[in-house]
Formats: sequence, structure tokens, C-alpha cells
Amino acid sequence: MRTLLLRSLFMRPATTAAPAAGAAALEELGRTLEARARKLFGRSLAIREVDAGSCNGCELEIHALNNPVYDVERFGVRFVASPRHADVLLVTGPVTHNMKVALERTYAATPDPKWVVAVGDCGCGCGVFAGSYAVAGGVDQVIPVDLHIPGCPPRPAALLEGLIALMDKAAA
Ligand code: SF4
Repeated sequence: MRTLLLRSLFMRPATTAAPAAGAAALEELGRTLEARARKLFGRSLAIREVDAGSCNGCELEIHALNNPVYDVERFGVRFVASPRHADVLLVTGPVTHNMKVALERTYAATPDPKWVVAVGDCGCGCGVFAGSYAVAGGVDQVIPVDLHIPGCPPRPAALLEGLIALMDKAAA
């Protein structure tokens, strides 16, 4: 016991430093998205996030977009509390039977023009939940989808790249 205590006094911390956020690359992605959204809408981009049955892993990455590292609001990307204020629905998870009607209503409540992005392997095609009795299908089985962003979960940079691709598709 004494040996263990002494060793713990002189051991280096077991934790490792967080990876660098790639500040320059993030800045470029954010500024690109900001410019495309301003060109398309003449204003900032409003996003409503919808969890249609995810494990919350995708939500952690989406929430990270608003943390002090990514802070996407500085690029004019806003997460809104109502689909009535949204341009884009960011939908995660396989759509469960319990959430199917809620997702359909959310889509109906979003004003035109609107775009839907299916996020994560589950949103794109049920992922690890494929075949579950609780699942109605991927997002595109329930509402029209404009863009798929695969990954389990997709990282914040991949989400930004996907949103840039969506702006390009909408402007075409
Ligand atoms: S894609 Fe992965 S992280 Fe996202 S909801 Fe499915 S299992 Fe969870």
C-alpha cells in the first residue's frame, strides 16, 4: 500500500492533452459556410436539430458546434428552437415509430424553402439499429432528404463540410 501511495505521488498524470482543433481549417470551413449562406439567403443560416431516435452520440457532435472550440455562431450559423424559424432540419438517428409522426409534423411546420440533412449512419440508413422492431426506417423513408452526412457519429468538421455542400446544392 505504501509503495502504491509513493508511486502515485511521482507518477505523471494518466490523462493526455486534447487534440488541436485545427483552428485555421475550422476558420476556413466556417467562413466558407458563412459566405455561401449569405449568398443564398442574404443572411445567417438557421438550423433546427431533430433527434428522431438517436443514441445521442450524434447530438454530442452537433452540440460541439456551439462549444467554445467550434463556436459556429460567429459564422452566422444559428440553432433555433422552432422549425418555424429554420432553413435546415438536421435529423439524427433512425426514425423510431414513436418519433415518426413528430418528425412529419416538424417537416410540415418548417416553412419553404427548406432542406433536410440526414446525420449519421443511423439517419442515413438505420446504422446499428437496422432491423429493430422500434425503427420505422432511415430519415429518407419518412421525409424527403436533400443531403446525407454519414459517420458514427460524424465529426463537427464533417457536419460543416456537409452544410457547405448543401448550400452549393441549393444554389445550383
Ligand atoms: S450514427 Fe452512431 S452516434 Fe449517431 S445515433 Fe447512430 S449509433 Fe449513435
